[in-house]
Amino acid sequence: MGIATVNPTTGEVVKTFEAFSDEEIESKVAIAQATFLQYRQTNFEQRSQWLQSAAAILESDKERLGALITLEMGKTLKAAIAEVEKCAAVCRYYAENGAKFLADEVISTDASHSFIRYQPLGIILAVMPWNFPLWQVFRFAAPALMAGNVGLLKHASNVPQCALAIAEVIQQAGFPQGAFQALLMDASKVAALMADDRIKAATLTGSEPAGASLAVAAGKNIKKVVLELGGSDPFIVLPSADLAAAAATAVASRMLNCGQTCISAKRFIVANSIADEFEELLIAKYKQLKVGDPMLPETDLGPLSTPKILEDIDRQVQAIVQQGARILVGGTRLDRPGNYYQPTLITDITVDNSLGREEFFGPVGLLLRVADVGEAIALANNIPFGLGSSAWTTDPTEQEQLINGIDAGCVFINGMVKSDPRLPFGGTKRSGFGRELGIHGIHEFVNIKTIWVK
Ligand code: NAP
Repeated sequence: MGIATVNPTTGEVVKTFEAFSDEEIESKVAIAQATFLQYRQTNFEQRSQWLQSAAAILESDKERLGALITLEMGKTLKAAIAEVEKCAAVCRYYAENGAKFLADEVISTDASHSFIRYQPLGIILAVMPWNFPLWQVFRFAAPALMAGNVGLLKHASNVPQCALAIAEVIQQAGFPQGAFQALLMDASKVAALMADDRIKAATLTGSEPAGASLAVAAGKNIKKVVLELGGSDPFIVLPSADLAAAAATAVASRMLNCGQTCISAKRFIVANSIADEFEELLIAKYKQLKVGDPMLPETDLGPLSTPKILEDIDRQVQAIVQQGARILVGGTRLDRPGNYYQPTLITDITVDNSLGREEFFGPVGLLLRVADVGEAIALANNIPFGLGSSAWTTDPTEQEQLINGIDAGCVFINGMVKSDPRLPFGGTKRSGFGRELGIHGIHEFVNIKTIWVK
């Protein structure tokens, strides 16, 4: 469908957009480069004020921006508004901490004075997904702008109005024109942009094929890239856990954003001795979920974002069942307009069922049973991904085993995996490399310059 707003709740094509011509893209890159040469001279105090102003605009406009998110990708309005609030929080976080994170760092050596200075790189290209169409962008943009870089955004083709709205917020906040621009363009143009000398680095959040393709282009041109890709996070439950809290969190995490969340709990890995009880608790929680119009406050799950995601999830569910798995809840599309799928829970997934190691990017949870913590860790790691993980136990020895043993970018004990501006976020294995957020995120796109003076 090209670049367009298509309402996932109704299927209605709301607005279509012409992709930028090569000349228009060139002109945006030229503006970005000219802006960078000026912008890099601004001080932290000024950048911090602009970020604070962006946070204030986001908060005062959260209802409108939230409705735009819901219109373009279908998450519930309440979740969309919360997403806008989180964008304001990440702007404030870097406004308040950026100068400290990027201050000169003195290191004692044989010099009279030696230190590290962090300097911006230039234009950073951000290739972003539709699932958190504002948050994914602001968590990159806030640290990048604070560090003195400028941004070009190639957003997912189904959220063009969100892309334009983000650039508008940043502009209204006072950042120079050209500090952050949206490029409405096809993904096929990304590789050519990476060959442009003015573009110094890139970040991509999305699928493995897209990440690999960007990494190839970046490698060819010797440029830094950060990749935030897919995941199939384990959610391990051991006998000492508070089962009711664990079940409620498992379902909340799995169903967040209608299941279209990279760090949602996708595989519930449960000790045999408590598995029957936990399964009952899960089923009870599933039955309470309200699927419906994402604009209504009582709705828990709206539609999936596109017809393709609906087809993909339906195909995966049918295929895993054909390989011997059993559906406990849901398992089909909903008979209504829009991209609706039933919240689904699947069990009896054998080790040789290869689909159990895939990412299910929709409201589908997999329930797996294990003997003990060792088997749980082995199963948790038996996937190509290593993004998030959550484990539930009050036993300190088990906690330590899980913290050390799980191969992932984070381990949350007795809690739901979530991104937080203060904590680094990213993955291992095929979930990508590099980190966003926290102090580590702002250090991704800077020249770490060593200074030695005698
Ligand atoms: P996608 O198809 O990879 O799209 C993401 C972005 O990449 C879009 O802007 C897309 O543009 C662009 N793109 C697609 N193919 C490309 C290529 N060959 N070269 C350069 N850019 C390309 O991702 P998706 O399937 O919609 O998103 C879901 C995936 O993202 C899931 O796997 C999810 O786990 C992952 N994700 C990861 C994180 C994280 O932080 N680790 C967060 C959210 C989502 P078009 O829209 O124009 O194709």
